[in-house]
Order: sequence, then structure tokens, then C-alpha cells
Amino acid sequence: MVCGLTSCLGSGAAGGLFSSAVQFFAATQCLVGETWPKDSVLQNGSRYDFIIVGAGTAGSALAARLSEVANFSVLLLEAGGDPPIEAIIPAFRETLKASSVDWNFTSVENNITSQALKRGIEQQPRGKMLGGSGSLNHMVYARGFPSDYHEWASIAGETWNWTNVLKYFMKTEHMTDTNIVNNPELMVYHGRGGAIEVSGTNEVMFSIKKFLQAFEELGFKTVPDMTYPNSIGAGCFSHTIRNGERDSSLRALLNNANSTSLHILKDTFVTKIIIENGTAIGIEAVKDDKTFLFYADREVILSAGTFNTPKLLMPSGVGRSEHLRSLGIDVVADLPVGSNLHDHAMVLAFLVADNGTCVSDEAENSMEAIKYLYDRTGFLAKADNMAAYLPLSSSEPTVPEFALYPTCIPQFSPFRSGCLTLGLNEDLCTELHNLNQEYELVTIAAVLLKPKSRGKVELNSINPFDDPLIYAGTFSEEQDLDHFPRLIKMAWSIADTNYFRSKNARVIKPWVEACSNLTESAWIKCMSRAMVTSAWHSVGTAAMGTVVDGDLKVLGINGLRVVDASVMPKIIRGNTNAPVVMIAEIAADLIKEHYSVSRTGTNLNNMTIGNLTASSMPNISQPNINLADVIENNDMINSSLIEVEITNVEIITTTDRQSDIDDTVNVA
Ligand SMILES: Cc1cc2nc3c(=O)[nH]c(=O)nc-3n(C[C@H](O)[C@H](O)[C@H](O)COP(=O)(O)OP(=O)(O)OC[C@H]3O[C@@H](n4cnc5c(N)ncnc54)[C@H](O)[C@@H]3O)c2cc1C
Repeated sequence: MVCGLTSCLGSGAAGGLFSSAVQFFAATQCLVGETWPKDSVLQNGSRYDFIIVGAGTAGSALAARLSEVANFSVLLLEAGGDPPIEAIIPAFRETLKASSVDWNFTSVENNITSQALKRGIEQQPRGKMLGGSGSLNHMVYARGFPSDYHEWASIAGETWNWTNVLKYFMKTEHMTDTNIVNNPELMVYHGRGGAIEVSGTNEVMFSIKKFLQAFEELGFKTVPDMTYPNSIGAGCFSHTIRNGERDSSLRALLNNANSTSLHILKDTFVTKIIIENGTAIGIEAVKDDKTFLFYADREVILSAGTFNTPKLLMPSGVGRSEHLRSLGIDVVADLPVGSNLHDHAMVLAFLVADNGTCVSDEAENSMEAIKYLYDRTGFLAKADNMAAYLPLSSSEPTVPEFALYPTCIPQFSPFRSGCLTLGLNEDLCTELHNLNQEYELVTIAAVLLKPKSRGKVELNSINPFDDPLIYAGTFSEEQDLDHFPRLIKMAWSIADTNYFRSKNARVIKPWVEACSNLTESAWIKCMSRAMVTSAWHSVGTAAMGTVVDGDLKVLGINGLRVVDASVMPKIIRGNTNAPVVMIAEIAADLIKEHYSVSRTGTNLNNMTIGNLTASSMPNISQPNINLADVIENNDMINSSLIEVEITNVEIITTTDRQSDIDDTVNVA
């Protein structure tokens, strides 16, 4: 870790004493920083085997994996630049939203939902920098549940079944959370030696311990591993943090990629995919106000994320014909691009409690900054998060449909800015800020993990620099809203558990004008409709089964794939970053296989579970096998050590390069 060519000072928005202290030391001693990949010097009209648009969670992983093949030339284009210092230090994660490294998208107002949010719209933060949203997310490591991938497999084929995706989750993972590593039963599901570190904290925050106790009193089992397939209950998440710094596909994979075959252009905005005679042959991009054309001999791959991928497909003629024609765009492929947008809907419940409830182990003091800079420990190095997962009903106890994420906010905290960043309106933020001057605040985010509602992304105009129109569609299916009275009442019941009762915790019903004079359940529904916001996990706008096939190729177009969160046909029950890395890992192997190149990486045929070896297990490389079911049913895994051997397979490349990479064309 060196302070390299990039500035040590952040361009994000971390405020307060922590920030000043960290920035001061970081700037003077260059103790926090990273050498990010350099911009390549490229000729307009250059040709590559693969052009990848977007160096986010998926694009960073995919580019690194494809560049493992010596004969593949890869161009990776990213609209943003280097991440600021706040993207490295875990505790500064909140400061990146609504900053210059966020696309700052919002949903379109519909006059029905989110009316208690600022301007009646949901904030839709997305990272605009190397690493994309993986550089500004909250680092929670989650995967969803086996039934999520049973659904994917039924839509898009067996590549996406639980057994297969589990192999890829494990391939990228380096699990160091000691609660999990020291438990052989849990380690069945985890990888050691993968690129991205997944860690735990030595000492969870005081308030999280109290929440876990509270949930236990409410009947939730405490689970040691939130990714365990049957983890209905409450527990702490592991996080993608390495030595007190954010880990991601950018830092772990792209930063270590083969730089001879990989070319990167930062601050380069791709404006169009060039499609000729039904084949994607290149892209048009703008850098420093100049337009460039680059050509792909094998494939153009879109990894621009759930909002920007459809925004790139549509101007190139791939989309719903009616929408494209309304903007005068010639239709190349009539596909439901932008449809099927969905996200985990989130509504906050509030309690107030006596001062000292949270016991502020995160107290703002400059010693924390020094501690962090000295050995990457303390509050700044952490991103403690926990959740309680709830099933739809007690008859389906192994699949969570909802989650509650509690947070304790000490008195006088800088709550107001976070409140506004979340998107609550001025009046609500002022009311909550005033309460926080007197009390500690407990917020509990109630989240719907499997919404039925769908929204859509459309073009605002044919100007590529216009933001897309995001119709969030939240609660367009009324039954989604119907769950909230139960969820919010469950969240409120934390006030009635031993510790929180001893701190005089009580429910606060924020003033929402439209909801006055209603009975309790009606008030909750009304308030939920008014305060609902995105949980930042939007997916599905170029879904497998309707826009791309199971190999992620765009239907009806040659040489064009999508590899990012937009291909998820249905949202998974959990945070989406690790699943997006998994999608990129699978895509890399699909591409290598397609061009007759050996796969590299984890050879799970060497996996042994207990005294079973791959040969005595159901064949894990075949569709529909049920290693996962074996594991799910816990039939054979109660005792011995699990060994997952990682072998690097020699790379054999093909020699069928289709063209000469020195071809050039004029600037458009
Ligand atoms: C605030 C927030 C918190 C989150 N917290 C968590 C969490 O704790 N755990 C978790 O698992 N998930 C979390 N997520 C979700 C997770 O980060 C995303 O699902 C994941 O990063 C999506 O990856 P992606 O590759 O699809 O898109 P992105 O990572 O967003 O990458 C898209 C990239 O494409 C670039 N791009 C877009 N358009 C263009 C263009 N025209 N030209 C060039 N480049 C372009 C973008 O700048 C970006 O770098 C969070 C998300 C947000 C926004």
C-alpha cells in the first residue's frame, strides 16, 4: 500500500474531526492511498478482442479475469476516475453518497409513493469511479439463498443453479471471519485463498450486541453466518474489508490484473454501441471533450450497471420498439430493455431512548484517526452491520422474505446530513434532528427482500449525457405494502425488550401530513407509502430470459453481452455486490469456454466434504446435481474438515484473432 501517483487527499465529503485528522495525516505522511491503474495511451480507432464498458463491481472482475488470457486484448472504459480516500476507509462509506463520485440519479416523481422524501423522489446512488458502486457500498457480504438461484436456473438454465453459483462465490472469496473459519460446518460454504477478503470484526459494537439480545428476546435465533443457507434469524454480517480497508473487485482483482493485455481508459464516457448488420462491432466514447471510436473483434460487454446499461442499449436500437420509436431511434432488436426494474423496498421505523443507550464506542475523537493510521484498527476500520431475517410465515421458516437492519444513533450525531442524503425531506430531517438533540435515536430499516412490484428505466432523450428516467415502481403491487404493518410493528417491539425498556425506549411516529388521524395499521401503510426508499440494490433491467440468454448474450445481436446487476432475472434475498462478482466470474468462464480457452481458478473437482470426495459425491459439474441439497440438508457435513484445493490450470489460448489491432479510423 503506497501513496502513489494519485493524490492522497480525498475528493469525497467526509466531515468532522475524524476526517480532518485522517486527511491531515494521510496527506502529510501518505499513509492511506492506493496506486490505481493508469490510463492507457490509445489511438482512436484501435481494435481489441473485448471492450468492457464500466469498471464497476462486475467490469473490474471481468476485465481482470479476461486479461488472464495472454492473447486476449481487453479495453476497459470507465466514466469516473480514481476513488477518493473515503472509498478506502470503511467508516467514511456514508460520505460518498451525493458526492462527485456518485451518479446522483433519482427516481421520477409519481405523486403516490415517497411523498415524504425530498421532492417526492427516491435517491438512487451509484458509484461513478473505478470500482463503481463497489467503491461506495457498505461492504456487507451477502449472497442470497439457494431458492433465489433455483429460480434463476428455472429461467436461465443450470449455469445459474445454486450448486454452480456456490462454486463461484467460493472461488473469489478469502474468508477470514474467525467465527466462520473456526466452524467446519459453516466453512463448507466458504472459500479461502480467493481474491476478495471477507472479514469479521474482533469486537462488534456495543449497540449491535444489544440489538442481538433484543432480537433473541423477540424469538429470533442468533445465527453465526448470515450467508448460511438456512440462516433465518439475527446476526452480524461479514464485510469485504482487508486490513481495515475496503476490499472489492477493483482492489483485489483489477489492481492486480495483467497490464500487458488490459488497457484502461478512465474519465471516459461511452455514448453508444456501434451495431452493424446485427453485430456489435465497437463503441463510441467521449474523453476530454473528444469523441473516439474503438472496435471489438470478439465482443462488446456492457457492465455499466442497472441504470446505465439499459441507457446504452436503447440509443443503439436495442429496447422496446414503442419507446425507441417515440424518440426516433431505429429498432435493431425489440427487447424489454429497462423493464423488470426492482429493488429491496426500505421503510425506516424510529425509536428514541435515553442518552447512553448506544454507548458510543464510535465516539468522534482524533485518537481514532491515529489508531487507524497506526495499525488500521478502531472504529474507522469497521463497517459493523447486522440484520434480522424474517420468513413470510412460520410455515416457510427457511426462506427470509424480509429483513430488519437496526442502527443506534448517539445524541448530537451529525444525523441531519445523513438524513438528507437518504432523501427524507427537510421537515422530517429537522424533526428527527431535534429529537436527536435530546435523545438517542434508534432507526430500524424494514426491508422487503422479494418485492413483487416492478419499475422501469427509460431514456429521457437521445442526448447520451441526460440522466435516464427511473420509474422505481415501488409498491405498484399493493401486496408489497401490505407486509409493512407487521414489519414496522416488529421493529417497534425492540422498545419492549429488556435493555431498551431499561433505557426508556419508545416509538416515534414522525409527522407525515397525509397520514394524520388514521388507525395504527392504516397509519403504518400510509407512512410506509410516503417514506419508502430504495435500498440501493436495483437489478433486472436487462434480465436473463428476456433481454439476455443464460450465457448473458443479448438476444438477437451478435457480439454483445451484458455482465452486471441488470441481468438478474429476479432480485436475490440479500445485498447484491457478491452476487454481481459471481456473475462476472461465471461470465469470464463462459467467454473463455466460448473461445476455447481453458478456465482458470478454482478446481472444485478437488473439493472434499467430510469423507466424501468429488468422485463419491454427486457430480458437481453437471446440471441439477445436488451438492447444494446435500449441504442444505446437512446430511453429511457435521464433522470433518472441509478442504477446497485451489489449482491454477494452465492457460491455453486460441490463435484465431480475427483482425489486426493496428487498424485505425478517423475521429468521428
Ligand atoms: C449506497 C449503496 C450501498 C450498497 N451497499 C451494499 C452492501 O453493503 N453490500 C452489497 O452486497 N451490495 C451493496 N450495494 C449494491 C452493490 O454495490 C451493487 O449491486 C453492485 O456494485 C452493482 O455492480 P454493477 O457492476 O452492476 O454496477 P456498478 O458497480 O455500479 O458499476 C457500473 C460502472 O459503470 C460505469 N459506467 C456507467 N455508465 C458508463 C458509461 N456510459 N461509460 C463508461 N462507464 C460507465 C459506472 O461509473 C460504474 O463504475 C450498495 C449499493 C449502493 C449504491
